[in-house]
Amino acid sequence: MRTAVVTGGASGIGLGIAERLRSDGYRVATLDLAPAEDDKLGFKADVTKPEEIAAALETIRAELGPVTVLVNSAGLEGFEKFKNLTFEAWKRVVDVNLHGVFHCVQAVLPDMLEQRWGRIVNISSSSTHSGQPFMTHYVAAKSAVNGLTKALALELGPNGITVNAVPPGFIDTPMLRKNEDGGRLGGTVEDHIKRTPVRRIGTPADIAAACAFLISEEAGYITGQILGVNGGRNT
Ligand code: NAP
Repeated sequence: MRTAVVTGGASGIGLGIAERLRSDGYRVATLDLAPAEDDKLGFKADVTKPEEIAAALETIRAELGPVTVLVNSAGLEGFEKFKNLTFEAWKRVVDVNLHGVFHCVQAVLPDMLEQRWGRIVNISSSSTHSGQPFMTHYVAAKSAVNGLTKALALELGPNGITVNAVPPGFIDTPMLRKNEDGGRLGGTVEDHIKRTPVRRIGTPADIAAACAFLISEEAGYITGQILGVNGGRNT
């Protein structure tokens, strides 16, 4: 039985991935700012703080064994006209979405190298296909995650480790509903469903299904890929 760590695993897509991997038989620990109360393997860790990640991983390794699956789902959005965007706000969004991936991969990589097997899936964003006004920091950070995915895949392939990215689009989570409530979605969810080729909103389970496949043994020949899961909104 393999051990997986899912960041951002207390909410939305990360929660859906953690549930799916548990039902597939993985031992799953989650990292989040505020772990879900009913998650006995939920650890409080800010992905921008390497010492908090290291402390959580020490317990995870002791209790569950080496970590050979990592899904980076923790994320932070931001909305601001570029001319008003402060460098502090820019840095925070880049810190969580990009540097968070750096810190988490660094933390689990020794286990994967030792086991000569590993699966890393980075949750980026469909905004990297299309761009998104008022989200320059977010789109820049998520696009960098796609780039990191491709470069790291080439580097780690010889070690039996695959690295892929899943950019979600229009998935029903607290993050998306907050945007709808705040009028930042450019219409309601219902409006968007009419413009979505498969005519529905995505679910965390849709993203989890893609992750479960990329993590599986049979996906060992797939690496460095960006697998969009967005109902056809981006092709
Ligand atoms: P969500 O429900 O807000 O979940 C994100 C989780 O990450 C939250 O539990 C959040 O904690 C946590 N988090 C934020 N900053 C963190 C940090 N520094 N350290 C540890 N955990 C942190 O959002 P979601 O929609 O599931 O998003 C999951 C991922 O998918 C994100 O990377 C997001 O950018 C990406 N994504 C989502 C969509 C979509 O349609 N939903 C589209 C494109 C991309 P708090 O709630 O306490 O802040």
